Amino acid sequence: MSCGRIVMGIWNYIKNSGRFNAACYTLEWVGSLPGKRESRRMDTAYLLSQEDVLRHTDFADGGFYGGWYMDFHPAEGIGSDEDNCTQIPVNVYAVPLRCLYHADFPNLLFAGRNIGTRREAFVSTRVMNTCGLSGQAAAALAWGCLRWGKSPAALAPEEVERIRQTLLREDMFLPGLSNQDPEDLARDAAVTASSRYQPEEGPAAGWFSLEQGGFVACPCPDEPRGRFLVRADAPATLQAVWHCCPLPSRLCPGQPAGEQSWRLTAGENWLDALFPSQAQGQYGMLVFDPAPGVSLALAERRAPGILCGRADAPEYRDSLFLPGKNSFYAPENVVDGCSRVWRQPHLWCSAPEAAPWLELRWDTPRTFDTILLYLDPELSMEIPSSRTDHWEDHHKFAARKGMPPQLMRDVSVQALTENGWRTVACCTGNRRRLLELSAGEAVTATALRLVCEKTWGDERAHLFEVRVYRQHR
Ligand SMILES: Cc1cc2nc3c(=O)[nH]c(=O)nc-3n(C[C@H](O)[C@H](O)[C@H](O)COP(=O)(O)OP(=O)(O)OC[C@H]3O[C@@H](n4cnc5c(N)ncnc54)[C@H](O)[C@@H]3O)c2cc1C
Repeated sequence: MSCGRIVMGIWNYIKNSGRFNAACYTLEWVGSLPGKRESRRMDTAYLLSQEDVLRHTDFADGGFYGGWYMDFHPAEGIGSDEDNCTQIPVNVYAVPLRCLYHADFPNLLFAGRNIGTRREAFVSTRVMNTCGLSGQAAAALAWGCLRWGKSPAALAPEEVERIRQTLLREDMFLPGLSNQDPEDLARDAAVTASSRYQPEEGPAAGWFSLEQGGFVACPCPDEPRGRFLVRADAPATLQAVWHCCPLPSRLCPGQPAGEQSWRLTAGENWLDALFPSQAQGQYGMLVFDPAPGVSLALAERRAPGILCGRADAPEYRDSLFLPGKNSFYAPENVVDGCSRVWRQPHLWCSAPEAAPWLELRWDTPRTFDTILLYLDPELSMEIPSSRTDHWEDHHKFAARKGMPPQLMRDVSVQALTENGWRTVACCTGNRRRLLELSAGEAVTATALRLVCEKTWGDERAHLFEVRVYRQHR
């Protein structure tokens, strides 16, 4: 009864306050069984637990992912004196396909908020983005069941793996899983490019105050050291704790891995960052103690995957951090099997230039009709799981404005056929992260060249992965 009164009161405010342009709206439907948010949960072959969310369990049947806070609301509901939401930050975690079915009901799949979880995991998985991903995973699982004529629980491990590879191709992120698709012709091509970006020493483009602390995150380079610039108003000591993680997050820096400190003179100081051995193969994050009068130098140009910021600052900034010898933005990263930042950038980033290109070359001719490009819509930006352009303080999100500058906008693909180079596919005004380009017919070629004619603002090309297929026979 009291829930019904609250709903009507909120509706009255929306319709009649004059603040929402809703005077002509009608209320068509209200749920008749209001309940506590976590009141009813389904029992599936596996129930995702708090431990899985916080410790990132590695599931052989991981089918999608979550990453929203464990976001608890008080049991008493809207009238409670407690804070109306307690949010425990989590890093990206996998959810197994077993959360989408129950062995006793072979013709029923779950997706959305009704997947099988324990309460502490549900408060993270119930958000719209994760619900949407569970729908994609359920669809791929249904496809597998139909293809092999089996119930979900009867699928063999290699069939589950095939479903996971299909999800990966459709741009699902499955932590730790890499592209093993034997039909992808790009996997055995040699890759070259017009150029490769390399962060360079230069003057600071701005300063980020460490008065209240802050961090710098960088994947561990082959030579496990880096250099960064700070400015101090007066001689000071700067102290930091190293943390290691597969993916940096301002709220979850990962496992602590030792300390480092520096003596600063007044003015600008270039400092050495010595990555701890635990950071090898993943991210190292220097988390600085509060340092009044000390600031970190910002870079003029973003080095993808290298960030600085502060836990309570909603936007990541571009740190002037120069990693040691590394292959962060090498052209061959586009066929390394990973299509987004995870432990390493896994990205080809060109130097700033007009129409940068990337080339795949094979020993013998290959026949294909489809090229898949996994582009960069600025993946280091946190996207709120709601449509709004302002956020309450505790959420600390910055809303995205306009198109991500790194995203390729106009792209063309040329192929080296027996009659020489010719353009076989192109796209203008792209707004997608996964861009599928069709040649419209089977093309036989020994090389394929992708030309980035224009982005939405950056002067460099950004590309995580390219795949080449013959889809139609
Ligand atoms: C007040 C509130 C605020 C929230 N805020 C956020 C937020 O800010 N961000 C966020 O990410 N998440 C938020 N959530 C959570 C999130 O919105 C839901 O968990 C999520 O939308 C659930 O998606 P779903 O597809 O599983 O179910 P639903 O979105 O509920 O979809 C189920 C659909 O099935 C239909 N249906 C039911 N029975 C039948 C039937 N027999 N035949 C045909 N159709 C049927 C229903 O009408 C409904 O359209 C909020 C939820 C609530 C209640």
